[in-house]
Amino acid sequence: MSQPTTEEAPSKPTKKTANDYAFGKLLGEGSFSNVYLAKDVKAQREYAIKVCDKMHIIREKKAELIQREKQVMTIISHHRSDVAPFFVNLYATFQDSERLYFVMTYAPSGELLKLLNFHKTFNKETCRFYAGEILQALIHLHNLKIVHRDLKPENILLNEFGHVLITDFGSAKIMSSNEKADLPEPEKSNSDDPTSNKQSRKNSFVGTAQYVSPEVLQGKYSIVGPPADLWAFGCVIYQFLTGSSPFNGPNEYLIFQKIIKINYDFPPDFDSEAKDIVENLLRLEPGERLGSRDTDRYTSIKSHEFFHGIDFDVLHKQDPPSFD
Ligand code: ATP
Repeated sequence: MSQPTTEEAPSKPTKKTANDYAFGKLLGEGSFSNVYLAKDVKAQREYAIKVCDKMHIIREKKAELIQREKQVMTIISHHRSDVAPFFVNLYATFQDSERLYFVMTYAPSGELLKLLNFHKTFNKETCRFYAGEILQALIHLHNLKIVHRDLKPENILLNEFGHVLITDFGSAKIMSSNEKADLPEPEKSNSDDPTSNKQSRKNSFVGTAQYVSPEVLQGKYSIVGPPADLWAFGCVIYQFLTGSSPFNGPNEYLIFQKIIKINYDFPPDFDSEAKDIVENLLRLEPGERLGSRDTDRYTSIKSHEFFHGIDFDVLHKQDPPSFD
């Protein structure tokens, strides 16, 4: 995709256009978008602008995904939390004849995955810090009745101070008000094997293979709620401490088999408190995952030994642990 240009006059005087920004370097490429660093010419503020090619979106049938991403980011941006400012916000959207533009918070420190890969693993202190911020973000998100459904280290960016900024809401689900978010009732299924029954095979899963929850894999979409993110949260804690996700394999089929059998191992030196929290998050039944039955979210996770001594409400003001 070439560098964007403005091609249409603004329809309303207040509406932003690409002319309001000086586009800089390419920050990254998605499957149907490019993200550029850009400066608001008037305000002299930096943003990340995601530029999506309309034809590509239509060809790949991604219009719904883009629409949902915009909808969810708008909700989050309108309901900011003082104690969980851990999201990439959406500041403006506009379009020209060929492209859609999303003006978002710029995350100068890049992906948390890169930081993790650079250091191979996080020590317990660093893990507790990032996991604590992610948990605060999940509490806020779930209070807004939004399930991310694709939580993973690639979708966790870092701001200039090294704090978490969760992004990529294309797979998110907004729960209707009558949906029971906390205690999903298990659905009847003929088979536990996601690849062996016709119904499941029809369902293409949302999310990323290694982090996808069993209920999503088994096509039990009506019960997919906040516990799907708690599952991914368990995978992420495991990955922080070991350097790789718990469920791995040469292909998606084998990864899925491991997930539905909860087939994973801990290295011998894995911290015992971390082991307990991961085991309690990686439960087959969504309603049995640690936190899923809390009325005041997620007190049972926050009070777990693993997080002992963490003051969740001030994490955003603290310095991230140093690596030396
Ligand atoms: P896909 O669309 O295939 O799921 P993706 O979600 O990573 O991929 P984008 O959201 O378009 O796609 O992001 C592309 C890349 O741009 C990301 O991998 C990230 O490195 C970078 N990026 C995205 N948002 C920001 C941001 N707010 N600040 C800094 N870099 C960003």
